[in-house]
Amino acid sequence: MRLSLALMVALCLQGAVDPKVEQAARLFERIWKEYFKSRGEVYQAPILTAFTGKQGSACGKVNPGNAYYCDKDNTVYYDADFLAALRLRVASETGTSGEAAPVIAIAHELGHAVFAQMNRQARPRGAMQQLQGYGEEKVADCLAGALTRAAAEQRVLAAGTLAEAEATIAIIGNLNARKGHPAWRVRYDSFLSGYRNGVNACEPNPLENLRYRR
Ligand SMILES: [Zn+2]
Repeated sequence: MRLSLALMVALCLQGAVDPKVEQAARLFERIWKEYFKSRGEVYQAPILTAFTGKQGSACGKVNPGNAYYCDKDNTVYYDADFLAALRLRVASETGTSGEAAPVIAIAHELGHAVFAQMNRQARPRGAMQQLQGYGEEKVADCLAGALTRAAAEQRVLAAGTLAEAEATIAIIGNLNARKGHPAWRVRYDSFLSGYRNGVNACEPNPLENLRYRR
């Protein structure tokens, strides 16, 4: 389904939902459904919930100024104002529309959803299941890279996507650097490996498991 222009304008004025995020989310759902199907598994697409101010979840209170995936209710919560501000900041740094910024943030959270679902479904236990914390973040960034590439190829995102990705990850990476996430350059490298080589490049290798396991 394509959103009509009038509806897109209405959504923009409302401020809560970014039409690019909606468009990308539909594409990402299709991609993950096909990917899981090819593995003989079923993808349960997470709910996307935009919020402003305070928000509860099955994982507890969700703080403004970020985006989160809660596996207990399979929902991605995102502060719509924060993502709109992120987009503007990336736009001013890159001289582009900045439209990739909120899409990349959502793609990263969907990476956590995919990670959680693969871990639940995989038999026998796969390499992913041994990762936690730092390693999981790298996988989520890599999966976000693969999705962002697909969004660029499907023209959901316009030219300038990679410059926007670098600026986005630098900003988010510096915000989260002290919360157990890798340094932003490491995160951008993971993103690039997914962007260049696709989802299969995101399977962690055993040496990385040893290095990053906590
Ligand atoms: Zn993360």
